[in-house]
Amino acid sequence: MLVIPSSATLTVIMITLISFLIVTNAVGMVVNHTTKANLSNELQFSRAALWSQSVEKRARGPPHVMRLFLTGDVMLGRGMDQILPKPCPPRIFEHSIKAARRYVELAEDAHGKLPLDRNLQYLWGSTLPELEIMKPVARIINLETAVTRSGNPWKGKNIHYRVSPENAETLRELNPNGTLVTTLANNHALDWGRRGLEDSLHTLKKLGIAVAGAGRDADEAASPAVVRVSQHHRVLVFGLGHKSSKIPEGWKADSTHSGINTAEFTKQDLQRFAEQVKKFRRRGDIVVASVHWGGNWGFEIPEEQQAFARQLVDVADVDIVHGHSSHHFKGLELYKERLLMYGAGDYLNDYEGIKGGHNHQKFKSNIGFMYFVDYDVSNRRVAQLILTPTQLRNFRVEAPTEMDLQWALRTLQRECKKFALRVEVDKSSRHLQIFSEDSRKSIKDAK
Ligand SMILES: [Zn+2]
Repeated sequence: MLVIPSSATLTVIMITLISFLIVTNAVGMVVNHTTKANLSNELQFSRAALWSQSVEKRARGPPHVMRLFLTGDVMLGRGMDQILPKPCPPRIFEHSIKAARRYVELAEDAHGKLPLDRNLQYLWGSTLPELEIMKPVARIINLETAVTRSGNPWKGKNIHYRVSPENAETLRELNPNGTLVTTLANNHALDWGRRGLEDSLHTLKKLGIAVAGAGRDADEAASPAVVRVSQHHRVLVFGLGHKSSKIPEGWKADSTHSGINTAEFTKQDLQRFAEQVKKFRRRGDIVVASVHWGGNWGFEIPEEQQAFARQLVDVADVDIVHGHSSHHFKGLELYKERLLMYGAGDYLNDYEGIKGGHNHQKFKSNIGFMYFVDYDVSNRRVAQLILTPTQLRNFRVEAPTEMDLQWALRTLQRECKKFALRVEVDKSSRHLQIFSEDSRKSIKDAK
């Protein structure tokens, strides 16, 4: 018997077809909009929904994907400041080294003289062309350095980082149209006292760079940095510092003192943070919690840190946890389709010539990643994750050697496997791509 569909059924079929066309086209538009030809191959994958293997079946609306760039510690102080045009006086107050220039000499001993024609772009090397290609709508870094010429180091601390306000203008290179966010909730923001922090806030404001996690009082320190992407979409970045990253007592901002925004792994602090997020979040926003936590050197992720990261999603409803402090990259987790980064690694540091550093060799603090997160704001999920590996040489970011690329791949594969994520080099050999197999595992399960 021939069944003729009723007009109601036909309407449903038509709506389904139109929705399908809108969805596939929307993904295509994002891809065309955000990439150049040499990226087209890997972005084809986004149509296949990289995460789909682990995703529970549920209704989805048309995707609206925004690409963010995140990376870890940007340490512009000490040796890095010395090689830029207008450095601070070289005097430093460490137990064994008394001149910041020494770190430059060590690097030159290791890899030869730095070129003489260095401008404010020098440090970034391959970063800027990559950003040109990838076109993120917001860029988020941990600025692990005070921007100041203050000469009064915080007492009782051995390492103090500062970059001159003139040299900090190098950050302009990452900040087209006010898209850069720096978090200062870390263990170096007050290296040169509250005066140093206030200088930092002043200069960053002058450069049009949004600051998270620090302020003239507790309210300002707890408020998010905001990047307005479009009429309906913003990226909010909240900065949090945890004592495990060796943030000195007394750096916390309060109602009458400048300082940083801190958090303990407690219910009260989580609740306080959740309320803060709720106060600022609007529909269509992406919320990033940028957290400086954990000690240096070591791939292990403490269970309480993982629990806190997950609660940031469960209780505060954040989209991305941007963790850093370890000085080398650590594993990634996809939890309820949100991204948890436990250690984004170092992006710029002056460690290049430090020898005898068992840790520097074992954990390779010269290897970093540019993390590009394509986030579907409509469905609150990571749509795609692409990492561009980098290495530091002559105090400059460049593409890694084949040997270092293989090391980065093997190491990231090992660390991501704990969270049932797979890492592969894409066809261009320039990027690593992350695929989900089963994101429900916890560290406990993986042991
Ligand atoms: Zn730190």
